[in-house]
Amino acid sequence: MRIATYIAEGTRRVGLVSDDGLTIQPLELTPQQAAVGALSIIESMAEGAAAPIATGAAVKVADVALDAPLPKPRRNLWCVGRNYHAHAKELSASVFKDSGAKTDEWPIVFTKVPECVVGPHDDVLVPSEISTQIDYEAELAVVIGKGGKNITRAAAMEHVFGYTVVNDVTARDVQIRHSQWDMGKSFDTFCPMGPWIVTADEFDGTKTRVRCWVNGELRQDGPTENMIFDVPTLIETISRGITLYPGDVIATGTPAGVGMGMSPPRYLKAGDVVRVEIDRLGAIENKFV
Ligand code: MG
Repeated sequence: MRIATYIAEGTRRVGLVSDDGLTIQPLELTPQQAAVGALSIIESMAEGAAAPIATGAAVKVADVALDAPLPKPRRNLWCVGRNYHAHAKELSASVFKDSGAKTDEWPIVFTKVPECVVGPHDDVLVPSEISTQIDYEAELAVVIGKGGKNITRAAAMEHVFGYTVVNDVTARDVQIRHSQWDMGKSFDTFCPMGPWIVTADEFDGTKTRVRCWVNGELRQDGPTENMIFDVPTLIETISRGITLYPGDVIATGTPAGVGMGMSPPRYLKAGDVVRVEIDRLGAIENKFV
């Protein structure tokens, strides 16, 4: 099942996307349910409801504006830093220089505020008066279904509702100058998400490929099998003493090839277009303005 949130005739709706990705069939939801996108479906299924059945007339994806599947996440998005070996190496002299953590034993975890989420084709605002080092991070995001606390690694996959694509946009100078990463990761529009959520019964996020292009040039290309901390380990770690809820999002880290890792670094500027694609899941593409 692929669940999309979209705007049609000025109204936010939620629907099921066809297997070919070309059409969406709307679900019958109240305006309050539709306002939070796929969240109401995730919550009801976590409580045991059956998968929703779309009954409305199908519309073409090309005729609507796709929104983030979770346009108003219930709280901050969990994010993981340094989760691919090659990426950790490329930023070992900068972002990960003084992390102070035993990062081989425990993942780096930070958050992005929920208000920075935008749709899969929305513009990203470059805060040029604040940062001159805007960077992209192509990532697989896990969407939690059934909540829980102290979830074991063995049970973790039972808590995965599905997966979506995010770009963990980052202001590197702001990220580095504060000891905490949240500020440099949370500027308005800094989390493009979409194009939909694919449920875990149809898609294996632990065996796919994450790629990123800037203005058509391939910059990142990494298999999710290369994560340092895999999806079950991340869920086990983040849920230690902290209850996870249906609809929580965990951005799982980015492969090598970010702008800061190049010599010299290549940061984003207004006019650039960044595309993030995950095999068998979908793609998001955002212009930086
Ligand atoms: Mg990231």
